[in-house]
Amino acid sequence: AHLDRIAEVDGEIHAFLHVDAEAALAQARAVDERIARGERLGPLAGVPIAHKDVFTTVDMPTTAGSKILEGWRPPYDATVTRRLREAGLVIIGKTNLDEFAMGSSTENSAYGPTRNPWDTSRVPGGSSGGSSAAVAAYEVPLATGTDTGGSIRQPAAVTGIVGMKPTYGGSSRYGLIAFASSLDTPGPFARTVLDAALLHEAFSGHDPLDSTSIDAPVPPVVEAARQADVSGVRIGVVKELGGEGGEGYQRGVLARFTEAVELLESLGAKIVEVSCPAFTYALPAYYLIAPSECSSNLARFDAMRYGLRVGDDGSRSAEEVMALTRAAGFGPEVKRRIMLGTYALSSGYYDAYYGQAQKVRTLIMRDFEAAFQQADVLVSPTTPTTAFPIGERVDDPMAMYLADLCTIPSNLAGNAAISVPCGLADEDDLPVGLQIMAPVLSDDRCYRVAAALE
Ligand code: GLN
Repeated sequence: AHLDRIAEVDGEIHAFLHVDAEAALAQARAVDERIARGERLGPLAGVPIAHKDVFTTVDMPTTAGSKILEGWRPPYDATVTRRLREAGLVIIGKTNLDEFAMGSSTENSAYGPTRNPWDTSRVPGGSSGGSSAAVAAYEVPLATGTDTGGSIRQPAAVTGIVGMKPTYGGSSRYGLIAFASSLDTPGPFARTVLDAALLHEAFSGHDPLDSTSIDAPVPPVVEAARQADVSGVRIGVVKELGGEGGEGYQRGVLARFTEAVELLESLGAKIVEVSCPAFTYALPAYYLIAPSECSSNLARFDAMRYGLRVGDDGSRSAEEVMALTRAAGFGPEVKRRIMLGTYALSSGYYDAYYGQAQKVRTLIMRDFEAAFQQADVLVSPTTPTTAFPIGERVDDPMAMYLADLCTIPSNLAGNAAISVPCGLADEDDLPVGLQIMAPVLSDDRCYRVAAALE
């Protein structure tokens, strides 16, 4: 049924970069056989899932949305991929994304944009926009994503589904093509909070192959999603995210946010206002730290390893081939970030930019620590606006970057955060997301509060 649905709608939505119907059916039959042999698989056995094309898969191409990886076949599975297979999920295909996960709209993909199923003239968010659109368009019930600055929560919000960024280190980065290693976090997309929790549990947990993976049990996310109870929970409304006049925020987004907070209060939660002054500097700090790490991570695409190689006709030096390959293989946003990062890390500027941004990161962590003394979870709108029209922000990087205003603080601090639908904006009838943030390794609190709203 899902393959039929993909055949019916994906010509227009373009959520997928790769679907192989025969291979998917073969996977499904193999799961049946495992069950017939008496293997005890988890609750998601046999369920089709779309996998963001930034996780390595031995049996499918892996492009990261970039021309530079066209035709490359990974020699190993990412840990997330392996765990999906072990749990018996059927990986039905790989989804579109902004090149190397750099973007907020999926328009930076080298393979063309994905469309938002609610209104196909609009973006599905990004960078995991293929995954969010696939779930929202009922092409699959579940999908994976990665969140470096908001790339799960923001697309979930603007397509009206659930998307969770686990605690940094709670899900493995092994086999996830690196963008910004201190921020990158795999997480689940689903249409319900409980489905998201089941998927979260299926692929998370300690991985000795990722040195930043946390050696602790997965928080009890499924139990929390079933509990769905907020009585006595202290919920902090962050003054700096949407409050204080709400400048730059769409009216309908703020209206739905306020109603969600009122609903939580009527369900027995205690609402408090908290202030996190350093959040104002989160966006500039992120756009120094993320490009710095990206400039280092993307140095591995040197025309010698991996897919593309341009100009290697025997007349050029290795350095010339490398320059030609990177010029042809990377898109404009990736080049912009490599230049920004290289500049910010260069001697003489390191302390002024990168060092300064790291200090801001510490201040943001301290703001969170103080706020979590007063509240069990913090809430905000997930995004300042609903889905914007395709093309509207492509020539204006600053406008594009603002889509992640509310999501970035949790990446810089490494804590857990979820986006859950909270209605449609009056102006455009498009979905609005509520963000619920919790301390490191308290991912279960996000699910508990999100489920109460469903
Ligand atoms: N939109 C942000 C960026 O472009 C976040 C991307 C992400 O989370 N992968 O960097």
